[in-house]
Amino acid sequence: AKKLGKNNYQFFTPEMNRSAQQYIKLEKYLRRALEQNEFVLHYQPQVDVKTGRIIGMEALIRWMNPKLGLVNPADFIPLAEDTGLIVPIGAWVLKTACKQAKFWQQNGFPIRVAVNMSSRQFHQIQSQQQSQHPLLDDVLNALDESDLPPELLELEITESILMQHLDTTMEILNALKNIGIRLSIDDFGTGYSSLSYLKRFPIDILKIDKSFVNDITTDPSDKAIVAAITVMAQQLKLEVVAEGVETLAQLEFLRKLQCNFVQGYYFSKPLSADDGYAYLLAQDDL
Ligand code: C2E
Ligand code: CA
Ligand code: CA
Ligand code: CA
Repeated sequence: AKKLGKNNYQFFTPEMNRSAQQYIKLEKYLRRALEQNEFVLHYQPQVDVKTGRIIGMEALIRWMNPKLGLVNPADFIPLAEDTGLIVPIGAWVLKTACKQAKFWQQNGFPIRVAVNMSSRQFHQIQSQQQSQHPLLDDVLNALDESDLPPELLELEITESILMQHLDTTMEILNALKNIGIRLSIDDFGTGYSSLSYLKRFPIDILKIDKSFVNDITTDPSDKAIVAAITVMAQQLKLEVVAEGVETLAQLEFLRKLQCNFVQGYYFSKPLSADDGYAYLLAQDDL
């Protein structure tokens, strides 16, 4: 790869080569990760601003591979989406999160679990044999197996999911809503969507993206955006979760703006199932 001239040379640097190999390796390992039990869910508490009580936990996936170490979702979810592996992984996440929430409920904490959804899960092909969309199958199986009341399951959907395949997405969301599942919009305000979907889709909750929360105490535009979102949500009878709350000052701002729930490092980083349960128990002792 030495004599290809200036412009081509860069494609053959050892570094590029390594990263292409790295990518292929990653895919190979990812294909085996489910059967090898390498995924775990961590849980991040969501707190009611008024009462200080934990009302739910967001499930966030982690991948622990013996060769690669701990891989963050940002580094493998895109690959899982490209390869379609996100579909079986997503089904595993649903199942595991529902079982965990059932455990909380059985132990006196009927709090919800919020699960992140990928657009690929909405765009699975429905085969002739299937009487309903495969995503509905996955959700209903997870609820059946865990015996979790549907009201305790929340699905986090992004604006981009709502903007694609409008008809199927609408059908699926209406079906989920009829079952009693709660639906939230993740990273609200960062997509390119129009607000009209808020009245067309059966949404319950808006999650304000952490990029708006970050500078809420110093940046007047961010403050105005968060204020506008919460006022709009109240009028539309939607609940608001602010994510990425890291400081008391941010929390106080959000309280004044009458945001319902908060989530972020100020309360807790995402916790293992055991640590999450310990966190719930500790709250009860207060
Ligand atoms: P997200 O859904 O927006 O999740 C919030 C991310 O912010 C999480 O990163 C969380 O650990 C982090 N975070 C929480 N509180 C704070 C805070 O106070 N400050 C800051 N700076 N960050 C905070 P994580 O766990 O690395 O997840 C990254 C993304 O990966 C998620 O973003 C979500 O889009 C995706 N993801 C995670 N788990 C799943 C999953 O099970 N399925 C799918 N499809 N995507 C997932
Ligand atoms: Ca999320
Ligand atoms: Ca988010
Ligand atoms: Ca996200």
